[in-house]
Amino acid sequence: MEKNNAASDFLHIGNRLLEWYRNNARDLPFRQTKDPYKIWICEIVFQQTRINQGLNHYNNFIKRFPDVKTLAEAEENEVLLYWKGLGYYSRAINIHKAAQQIMNDYHGVFPNQYDEILKLKGIGKYTAAAISSICFGGKIPAVDGNFYRVLSRLFADDFDISNSRAFTYFSELATLVMPDNVGDFNQAMMDIGSEICKPKNPLCGECPINEDCLAFSLQKIANYPVKTKKVKTEDLALTYYFVHRNGEFLIRQRKDDFIWKKLFEFPISVSSEMETFITGSKTVNHKLTHKNLSIEIFKVEVTSEEIWNRFVAENQYQITDVEGSHEKSFPKPLENYIQNSLKD
Ligand code: SF4
Repeated sequence: MEKNNAASDFLHIGNRLLEWYRNNARDLPFRQTKDPYKIWICEIVFQQTRINQGLNHYNNFIKRFPDVKTLAEAEENEVLLYWKGLGYYSRAINIHKAAQQIMNDYHGVFPNQYDEILKLKGIGKYTAAAISSICFGGKIPAVDGNFYRVLSRLFADDFDISNSRAFTYFSELATLVMPDNVGDFNQAMMDIGSEICKPKNPLCGECPINEDCLAFSLQKIANYPVKTKKVKTEDLALTYYFVHRNGEFLIRQRKDDFIWKKLFEFPISVSSEMETFITGSKTVNHKLTHKNLSIEIFKVEVTSEEIWNRFVAENQYQITDVEGSHEKSFPKPLENYIQNSLKD
């Protein structure tokens, strides 16, 4: 795509998107507000979660933490608890830290400039652009996968979206069609990308910009976007021991950054005297972004109080039961295991 055309050549496309958005915007709770805190939380919640799956989580989160101050003052474990079910717990940790940053560095007032928003922990260019355009009239396109897909199809542009320059390239391309109301334009692109110009089987007949869409007129939609580099997926084996006695079991909080930071887990090793209590094992497969996990969980039913007490004291594990575990956040496969474990 040659980008030295005057922006006005394509501006009608952005205006048509705005008109479509005015009549077809999804009726979502965060669409009724320009509160940057709520827009921020919703952008993070819905980054990897479908709207209907994440809506209850979003509402519960906002109910418990209605503003930056409440969130900043909360215990991290409680924030993680309210994030339960959304996965990507590092995002919850970052949200919490960013709220504290706003309290400390911005006197509790959400920054209104793109560059300042970008300094907040866990906020990248896309989220900063979305917040600044929706809440403060910023003029930066919130480029994400939806933009890549819609723009590459619209212009039948074969720029590789796995190229490290893709973000800059599509940001520039977006400015060609971007009208003055960038906040609504960004939201229109989000809606068009998820509702109409879907990755598979786009609804071109209903698309407000189909008359301008080059891929559509060439009948080459399947060719766009171009992505050459596949992200490698790593296979990873983990071992856990579900050490339990009289309905209680042992847990600890993870510290390392590798995966599941700050979530709770079972012991990853046991003493040889503990091994004698192993009654079986189960392998659970679980997918994370770019990782396929194979998790073997040994069930250890401890019948000796003395050995149990010694193991707990030596390793400083916490003791909990199924009910108590609801107050803590576990990785999904371990949480599922807990719910089923004591039934077997
Ligand atoms: S016409 Fe089809 S391919 Fe083109 S932007 Fe619309 S939905 Fe996407």
